[in-house]
Amino acid sequence: MTRRETREVHLARRPDGMPVADDFRMVTTSLASPAAGQILVRNILMSVDPYMRVRMAKLPSYPHWELDQVMDGSAIGVVERSEHPDLPVGTVVSHRLGWREHALLDARDAAAVPHTDGIPLAAHLGVLGMAGFTAYVGLTRIGALAPGDALYVSGAAGAVGSAVGQIARILGAGHVVGSAGTPAKVAFLVDDLGFDGAFDYHVESLSDRVATATPEGIDVYFDNVGGTHLQAALDSMNHHGRIVVCGAIGEYNALREQPGPNNLIYVLTKRLRMEGFTIREHMADHPAFVARATTWLRDGRLRSADTVVPGLDSAVDAFRDLLAGRNIGKMLVRLSPDPAPR
Ligand code: NDP
Repeated sequence: MTRRETREVHLARRPDGMPVADDFRMVTTSLASPAAGQILVRNILMSVDPYMRVRMAKLPSYPHWELDQVMDGSAIGVVERSEHPDLPVGTVVSHRLGWREHALLDARDAAAVPHTDGIPLAAHLGVLGMAGFTAYVGLTRIGALAPGDALYVSGAAGAVGSAVGQIARILGAGHVVGSAGTPAKVAFLVDDLGFDGAFDYHVESLSDRVATATPEGIDVYFDNVGGTHLQAALDSMNHHGRIVVCGAIGEYNALREQPGPNNLIYVLTKRLRMEGFTIREHMADHPAFVARATTWLRDGRLRSADTVVPGLDSAVDAFRDLLAGRNIGKMLVRLSPDPAPR
């Protein structure tokens, strides 16, 4: 069968600070027909994620991407050619070969995604995908959220943050508060997602603003930002509170050691527990989460929110926009139209 001509985005140079267009290169390539056990997928949607900024650097603590190679990441596509009986042509699959219009991969590295049940495919990369699952694991396993707890989440209008507030509410949190970077995001959190409170973190004293927004103190702080946001939350933590260290997006473009919070003494005096986690270590439980969260989506208690930009040519801009806070919910790139539901 003929080879499939396609395009992919390579890392051309390691960014210094905010990535720029010249750090990347669009490359045309051609893929062979699938060998036995393989599938050729036309990608429909791909995810851009904050961790990708860390993979563009060469750090001792984290796997890096090689220069002049295609990058990768979560994607959803439809099988165009198949040499595996379990994933015939037309099956919608999720896999890890984003940043390209087509992907050739072993069928065992892809998972079928239901495309019949009225749930948008984008949700499988957002609230049902890694973002929602990160929120769920962080709240339940790391934060040990209990009914009635007061929850505060930074980065609240993004993919993980918007799921954190909603899932915390479903699990019985007493008071749910979030911070985000624009008034429109603040309105979205309160009006659309039902947060009890939200505020724009661009203020003179973040500590004072967090304290005002969390009059009952904080039992669980879900940290997506780190730095000054962590410091401000520490000031308002209740005794025996839990800090879920999920991300540190405030520091990713710096990629060098930042001054720590100057009030870590509260971990001792307030008997706090602070724990980091990476979602990849919890993947065995993802299917059970999808089943549970799908019922929440269906009964309207959980909303899927996303910002979708069109075309692989826009993927680098989408990634830059993510780091600059121009997304609400999950930031995605649409690479081709959805197939008809089957
Ligand atoms: P988001 O959808 O939240 O997008 C990133 C958001 O971060 C932007 O929209 C922006 O919103 C905010 N932001 C950017 N720069 C800053 C800054 N300097 N200070 C404060 N906020 C900033 O991304 P995700 O939901 O995918 O990820 C959220 C966090 O969760 C990240 O830190 C990520 O690394 C982490 N994560 C961790 C995982 C794990 O396994 N531990 C798995 C997945 C994600 P705003 O306008 O509000 O500034």
